[in-house]
Amino acid sequence: MFESLSDRLTGALKDLRGKGRLSDADIDTTCREIRLALLDADVALPVVRSFIGKIKERAKGAEVSGALNPAQQVVKIVNEELIAILGGETRRVQFAKNPPTVIMLAGLQGSGKTTLAGKLAKWLKDQGHTPLLVACDLQRPGAVSQLQIVGERAGAAVFAPHPGTSVGDSEIEIRVADPINVARAGIEEANAKQYDVVIVDTAGRLGIDMELMQQAAGIRDAVEPDETLFVLDAMIGQDAVSTAESFRDGVGFTGVVLTKLDGDARGGAALSVREVTGMPIMFASTGEKLEEFDVFHPDRMASRILG
Ligand code: GDP
Repeated sequence: MFESLSDRLTGALKDLRGKGRLSDADIDTTCREIRLALLDADVALPVVRSFIGKIKERAKGAEVSGALNPAQQVVKIVNEELIAILGGETRRVQFAKNPPTVIMLAGLQGSGKTTLAGKLAKWLKDQGHTPLLVACDLQRPGAVSQLQIVGERAGAAVFAPHPGTSVGDSEIEIRVADPINVARAGIEEANAKQYDVVIVDTAGRLGIDMELMQQAAGIRDAVEPDETLFVLDAMIGQDAVSTAESFRDGVGFTGVVLTKLDGDARGGAALSVREVTGMPIMFASTGEKLEEFDVFHPDRMASRILG
């Protein structure tokens, strides 16, 4: 992802090299190229506009500083503004003062929630936490068993419903496999067995759907999550922004997880999500394997994009 954007940005900035002084016309030309590169990469128009506005203003007003030549100064400004649109600081998980910390996952079907549940569980275990995965995606056939598989791979416990019977090896009875009841029972299980983080996997649909939103909102109200992570497939292109807005308005979230960053799509929508929703990108997933996952660092991503 971002290869083509990266090539074009570095190309645009390279043209400035060797110039002793940058005229306003030089900066305008470079900004035009950067603008086109961002639009071609599917970065949302309002994000492109404000980004270019800031670069122009800062580049034109830039004092010549001792160590950097004018071209390097523009590169520095672009880098800083790129970090800013990606969220600036790295945003860490906020753990609850009184465990368990509840992390709810929301997003479209296929965005990578269930896979992420396993990745998060492994990441948490590596830090000494004891996560419990709770299977509240009762919509997609196979989602529960998929969660059990990723849980096993991550070495984490999974709490899953068996309709009309007891749940897992818990004492708690679930009479109907209702995701909200399962979510509540999952929290009780965590309290009873002292798991310190609960990861709640929820159902997604292929498109935005009111019933899905209401169900996710119901689970949210039942479990009162400390973090709600909106899982966003970076490959879905321009729809990413409207999907993120719908989830923000319908369910609300505290952070974004970008998945499939290993894909070859243009990826610019992923660059827009922080600005558009105001919520930080917290994790990035770069493959199907459990370890292909990390905390999202805006500065590292900006360096990668600028080559
Ligand atoms: P869910 O419907 O949101 O639970 O999505 P899944 O976790 O089932 O993921 C959908 C598909 O995307 C699966 O085939 C996953 O293996 C795959 N997947 C998830 N995350 C990534 C990723 O970061 N990169 C790639 N290439 N595939 C991923």
